[in-house]
Amino acid sequence: MSGAAPDREALIDLEAFRHNVRTLSALARPADTMLAVKADAYGHGMVPMARAALESGATSLAVLDIPAALELRAAGITAPIFAWMHDPDALFGEAAEADIDLGISAVWQLDAIAAAGASRAPRVHLKIDTGLSRNGSTEADWPALVRSALAHDAAGAVKLHAAWSHLADASPEDDRVALDKLHRAVAVAEELGARFELVHLAASSAGIRMPEARLGVVRFGIAAYGVSPFDDESARDLGLRPVMTLRSRVVSTKRVPAGHGVSYGLTYRTERESTLALVPLGYADGIPRIATGRARVWIGGRRYPIAGRIAMDQFVVDLGDGAVEVGDEVVVFGEGDDGEPTAEEWAGWAETIGDEIVARVGPRVERVYLNTTDALVGSVREIATPEEMHEFGRSIGATLAAGDVIVLSGDLGAGKTTFTRGLGEGMGVRGPVTSPTFVLARTHPSLVGGPALVHVDAYRLGSALELDDLDIDFAGSVVVVEWGRGLVEALAESFLAIDIERPHGAGAGGGSDAGTDADVDGAEAGDAPVEPRTVRITGTGERWR
Ligand SMILES: *Cc1c(COP(=O)(O)O)cnc(C)c1O
Repeated sequence: MSGAAPDREALIDLEAFRHNVRTLSALARPADTMLAVKADAYGHGMVPMARAALESGATSLAVLDIPAALELRAAGITAPIFAWMHDPDALFGEAAEADIDLGISAVWQLDAIAAAGASRAPRVHLKIDTGLSRNGSTEADWPALVRSALAHDAAGAVKLHAAWSHLADASPEDDRVALDKLHRAVAVAEELGARFELVHLAASSAGIRMPEARLGVVRFGIAAYGVSPFDDESARDLGLRPVMTLRSRVVSTKRVPAGHGVSYGLTYRTERESTLALVPLGYADGIPRIATGRARVWIGGRRYPIAGRIAMDQFVVDLGDGAVEVGDEVVVFGEGDDGEPTAEEWAGWAETIGDEIVARVGPRVERVYLNTTDALVGSVREIATPEEMHEFGRSIGATLAAGDVIVLSGDLGAGKTTFTRGLGEGMGVRGPVTSPTFVLARTHPSLVGGPALVHVDAYRLGSALELDDLDIDFAGSVVVVEWGRGLVEALAESFLAIDIERPHGAGAGGGSDAGTDADVDGAEAGDAPVEPRTVRITGTGERWR
């Protein structure tokens, strides 16, 4: 953001978010976790949250509509993406080509998908209205919707995949009635010949408190952002961590006498001589005006009341005799560990829910991401599929800078090329990334104005001297060296070592000798059985401390 604008930031702690996703997905198992990143990930920023979710246990993503799903695809995300709100002009053809899962509530939507004539058939999830009265077929219209889906499936226009609904969260009894309605709808559809691979219902609330509603997948949203879906338990009570901290800085202070009026309408008057501080956040930034008179903010380790009306761009804080200076940090809400308010408290002050408090944070507030790499150095992780390996590579690639060196080790077929391909995508370099065996080193220039990726196969290099002879621009690019152990140490002070291990006893997929053949792990993704990998990440030198 331009240095001239007042400091308004939403700090987004990706490690808190990953902790929440891990916690929730462990709770939901054996159900899978779909992470809702609709509404720009509840105000947190869609793409970074989507990536962090997939890094930490979510296997699919939920967005409201097709344009958001296409944006995730454009960002390189390959995991299943579910979108369910469509108007008559929805881009069903583009959605089908991009392999987006579509929530379907009406026959016209199926007809529109078929009419779009895409080259591939999208998976459809038929929605039954179980009481919320929003989207979803009525029980009366359900058989016709199922028959239409079966006909379009038989004609190859769609793949009938799932049945689903969404809960009203009114009471446990209401939710049980809704679950029964969903089960009945599935039974009716099965009698008509439908077979569902998946049935889903629960969001955060039922995903946490109603195990029988977890079914095949839970669509977690707000809980993953560290805001409780319940009135009677906070996120902290649930073992979840608030993800967003909304902060700014004091831009002016003044000493005023007792009885001094503050802000529009002069609804507030100082009780005694007092210091007032001005903060450049207002309802245009999502601070709810209705919280006037109740809300508190955190400055210099203390809570102070907002004095008078919250305005469009600013509010005033009554500091009393508190020692606060221009430039001091103001936390509107955050984790709450030190006593700063939480989004949940703001929800109470504004007579709303925490979801609204975070989702309404406005576009002038810069999102700043903390802990962008997943406690990377020193960690050991299981990577279950080639898709996850690709995502893992991407998540690392997105955080690398010129001068970074990665030493990549693993048997033939371990997934080195899959990893590096993801890494290249995360960096935004020109592909395709393939094994550099025959050329020793290949340079992939950046498509986004960043550093190039230099991909080196050091298998046949006898010494660090030979590696040096390749004249690689270590300072100006990101260098990935396969088989680089024992060579890179002489050329780079800092490097990240990534060791990919296959499970004990799993043979090399290609069966050929390392170094004499191209790394076949890309091909392996297609036909060999998928075996989990263990990945060890260790750092050497200042950069990776
Ligand atoms: C928003 C939404 C979710 C996630 O709900 P939370 O209560 O935030 O967990 C899941 N499914 C649908 C259809 C939604 O609209």
